[in-house]
Amino acid sequence: MFKSFFVLSLSLFMCFSYAGTTTVSGIGEYDNNNVFAKILAKKIPATIIFENKHVLAFEDIHPIKPVHILIIPKGKYRSLIDFSNNATEIEITALIRAMGKIADIMGITQSGFSMITNSGHHGGQTVPHLHFHLLGGEPVHWETALRDKKTTK
Ligand code: 5GP
Repeated sequence: MFKSFFVLSLSLFMCFSYAGTTTVSGIGEYDNNNVFAKILAKKIPATIIFENKHVLAFEDIHPIKPVHILIIPKGKYRSLIDFSNNATEIEITALIRAMGKIADIMGITQSGFSMITNSGHHGGQTVPHLHFHLLGGEPVHWETALRDKKTTK
């Protein structure tokens, strides 16, 4: 009995893990204890790049490119699906407008960048608060990196 429970738990963990990090669902209740909620509440530190009434942007703790900024709405939205369905027009506009400003602040408007969001388990989302990765400072080529790997269905 205990053994079966252990094997089931391990299988579920492996199923919902990506590159050693546990992925989360993009739908469902907002988790007030997620790490970005704590950054928003200033309970844990972050290097903040931009802030206004609706948006916060800060450096990713594990950057994968010379520029790696996380851009989040201040509202409690779990993923792009939640934001797309439930955010106000003002919040949506504020987020998109902030993206352009933040790329400008980071000096990558001319050179270019990728703006990526991961939603749910197959998206590889690990933090259940909507965030966009602003990646730049060198070529990103995320598609090429992914195409090298086999597609799984
Ligand atoms: P996701 O995998 O959900 O698309 O991206 C989550 C991102 O959040 C990762 O790139 C990860 O490095 C970053 N991250 C996780 N915890 C923290 C933290 O405490 N502070 C900061 N600044 N970034 C974090």
